[in-house]
Parts: sequence; C-alpha cells; structure tokens
Amino acid sequence: MAKHIFVTGGVTSSLGKGIIAASLAKLLQARGFSVTIQKFDPYINVDPGTLNPYEHGECYVTEDGAETDLDLGHYERFLNKPTSQANNVTTGRIYQTVINKERQGDYLGKTVQVIPHITDEIKRRARLLEETNNYDLIITEIGGTVGDIESLPYLEALRQLRQEIGSTNLLCIHLTLIPYLSAAKELKTKPTQHSVKELLQTGVQPDILVCRTEHPLTDEIRTKISRFCNVNKNSVIEALDAETIYDVPLLMLKEKLDVITLRKLKLKVGDEPEMIPWKTFLGKLKNPTNEVNIGLIGKYNELQDAYKSIHEAFVHAGAHNECKVNVVSIHAQSLEDSHQLSKLENLDGVLIAPGFGERGIEGKLNAIQYVRENNIPFFGICLGLQCAVIEFSRNVLQLKNATSEEISERAKHKVVHFIPEQATIKKKGGTMRLGAFNCKLKKNSHSAKAYGSTDISERHRHRYEINNVYVDDMKEAGLIPVGINPETKLVELMELKGHPYFVGVQFHPELKSTVENPHPLFISFISAALKYRQNQS
Ligand code: GLN
Repeated sequence: MAKHIFVTGGVTSSLGKGIIAASLAKLLQARGFSVTIQKFDPYINVDPGTLNPYEHGECYVTEDGAETDLDLGHYERFLNKPTSQANNVTTGRIYQTVINKERQGDYLGKTVQVIPHITDEIKRRARLLEETNNYDLIITEIGGTVGDIESLPYLEALRQLRQEIGSTNLLCIHLTLIPYLSAAKELKTKPTQHSVKELLQTGVQPDILVCRTEHPLTDEIRTKISRFCNVNKNSVIEALDAETIYDVPLLMLKEKLDVITLRKLKLKVGDEPEMIPWKTFLGKLKNPTNEVNIGLIGKYNELQDAYKSIHEAFVHAGAHNECKVNVVSIHAQSLEDSHQLSKLENLDGVLIAPGFGERGIEGKLNAIQYVRENNIPFFGICLGLQCAVIEFSRNVLQLKNATSEEISERAKHKVVHFIPEQATIKKKGGTMRLGAFNCKLKKNSHSAKAYGSTDISERHRHRYEINNVYVDDMKEAGLIPVGINPETKLVELMELKGHPYFVGVQFHPELKSTVENPHPLFISFISAALKYRQNQS
C-alpha cells in the first residue's frame, strides 16, 4: 500500500506549497522511492480550463488531456514524470461526481451530505492513484489556506483517512509563515501558532512544520514553535527564501525534511539521495557564460504565473546553453502603435505567447513582421504560430485582411479556422483539442535536428488550426509546414525558409520541459538567440 503525505498551508496563500511538495517528492525519488503528487483545489470550477489566467495563472495540460492547476507543471518539472487527469481534483469535480451518483439513485433514500458523502468522495480520490501505479508514496497538496471555509471538507477527509489507515501511513506537513518585524528586528511565531490551532480545531495535528522565513530560524524560535505547536523540534523545518525554486530541494535536504518524513512513516532512509544531475543543472544555471534578451509578447504580462511553464522552459534551456535568459515581458497591445516596435531593437529573440481572443493580435502581427524582416529569432506557440500565419498571409501572400476565424467569422481569408469537429461545440469546459498528439517532422528541418528525431508527440490546447487550403501557397512562398499530424493532417509546426530561426508550433512545448529534459525547441531557440547576439557585436 502506498503511504500518504498531505501538505496543507497556513497564515497566507502563495507560500509555495507546490514547490515544497515537489521538492520533497524529488528528494524521495532521488532516494529510490516511487512517488507522485496530486493537487486538491477547493474551488467550484470542475477544472481550471474555464479560468482566465489572471485568476489562477496558467492552465497546465497533461498528456491525457486534462486541464489542470499550474502546480502540476512544477511536479512534472521536478520529477521528470508525467502527471494525469487523476492528479488534479477540484471541489467542483468532487460535487459533480456525488451529484451524478445521487441522480442515478446510488444514495436512494438517503440525505446526501458533506459528511459522509463529499468527504468519502475526497478520500476515494485521495487514494485513486494507489490503483494506477505501484507508488510507495503519494503526496497530496491541499490548495487554499487552513481556515478557509472551502478547505474544511478536505481537512475532515484528511482527519478521517489518517484515523482509517493509521499515522504511520499518513503524514501531515503544514507550511506556514514566520514573519519578520523589521522595527522589532524579530521573527514572530504567533501567526503559526494560530494557524496550527486552526488545523487542530479540525482534528488534524501536523507532524512537520515547514516555516517560510526571510531570516534563519534561531534555536530559540524552533523551541518555541515546537512547544506551542506540539511538533518535535527536529520537525520544525526552516524554509528560507531561495534564489530560485530549484534551490529548494537542496535546502530541504539540508534541513532533513526527507529523512524526518521517512522516519515518521517508518520507511527505510537508506543512502543519501542521488542529486548529481540536479546539482549539475543548478551549477550551470548559476554560472552562465553568456546572456540573451528574449521578448515574451503576450497579453497577461502583469502576472508571471500566466506564462509559468514558458518562463521555466527558458530557465531549463538557458542552463543547458550556459546562458542567462533575460525575459522581457512586452504587452502585445502596446505594439499596435508601430513606433513602439523600437522595444524590439535590443532583443535577441522573440516569443509570441499562446492566448485566446482578439485583444493584442494586431500588436503581435506587427512584432512578427518586424522579427521576420529583421532576421531576429522567432518562436511562436499556438496562437503565436497562428499569428505568424496571419502575418505571412497578409504581408507576403498579399491576402488582404487575412485573419483567424476566432477573430472574424465572416472574413474572406480565414487562414486559421476551426478544427472541423470544434465548429459545432457549444460547451466550453474541457472541449478543446487537448493532450498529446503525434507529429511527423520533415527530415533535415531545423526542428527535426533539434529533436534528433522525426517522430514527436506534444501536448495541445486549442480550437483553431492552420487552414490547409492556404498551406500550399504558404509553402511556395517559404513558410513551410514542417510538422504534420499523421492521422488528421493538421499542421503542427512551421518554419520559415531563409530566416535564421523562425519556428511556430501549434502545440505547447513548454509543458514538457523539465530540469532533466529541457525542451529541444527551447534549447534551439536560445542557441539561435545567442548566435544572433554574437553576430550583432
Ligand atoms: N486561441 C487559439 C485556439 O484556440 C490558440 C490557443 C492557444 O494559444 N492555446 O486555437
């Protein structure tokens, strides 16, 4: 039977439960355990696919086509293992399952209630991954902050589950904040005491406290937290603010979070974890020999989390190239005024981000024309490829007002149009073309060389595609469909002939980039940007 570790959060949101969960998982994996992580989100949306990125950051897509929380991206980037539909559960999905069962008559004669029906479903979901693989350990991150009304059923389910399977099979790690009052020059433990008290009210005693702090915890502070929160002193773990999220596993190793976890779960600690590849990556990340400036042109720029996986893929590919990647966020709308294109002058590469809707499109088109004509490396992802096709159709093929069906249903030249089966879909939740699909690359293309293969599989999330009616003309004029889905014939990847680096993809390569496997297209884009920069000087 798999053992369970639950991670809860207290005091405030955004403390980084996902990173702590992923870091612990990494250490346990590096000790030879088979481990997975799942996220329980207390909101009512069935999945985050219907959320604006401003609400909850990027929507992460798994191999099996689930639209999930961005923390799953961290899990994959750290563990280098894919997650699935089963790794993300929301309150909406829990209720949907229970209500569907009620309608089918599964509870006939009974009043359906939060306890036991909702909590039973939470417990069932918590253990679902036990059936799929022989995991030694399943880490479950409970979203939200202890004390929120909506977290209560999850904590109750956790309490019941611990009682059912025993405390050597289920461990609770509580992530909390130790604020520093600069006027008093003191770290304060009271918010943590309150947060643990809140947790205790639900009947859950945390076993380990991971304390986010800007300053090292003194022995005295550790003693105090231990005493007031009823946690062993060695289980008060310091989580100092780190330079990068990738430092956290090593910080947790230093604090022995993995060893304490294993001991409490009565598992063999064994040898030191094998962290050499991780350390090699960190070494390269921290000692770059070059740098490049990459423009990230999108429309959710105010929120870094909206393009989380893209930012992380740059970190991985940068480290691989021993190159610091300075990502310059540029609001697509600001480029609608062509005078603003001077913002692109000092860039060594431009990435046009994925997105939905009309806002910012014209600015993206201006940017693409600029980088196409000035031989600046270009990488377009999903909507980024679609924009490249629109720009090329308008300015090279001279198709006046060419556009995407997403922007204008009645336009004459819809060079990007609905994927056939998408045109009739009315429901918005979970209905896009989602998940992994195969793609065949042309031999000798930039991209096939980058991948080192002509057969690839990448993840998707879109409703529109390149209109095949125009593809021959594009090809003739130099925009080559280099990657095609072998079953549906959809264009998945295009490259511009004669340009040093101009690649647009219909899929989302950023979702598959990990510390141990940086994505080949990000690697090749960064190395093209480096070359461009060197040629400039
Ligand atoms: N809006 C476009 C589509 O649905 C692109 C989606 C995306 O960039 N993920 O096809």
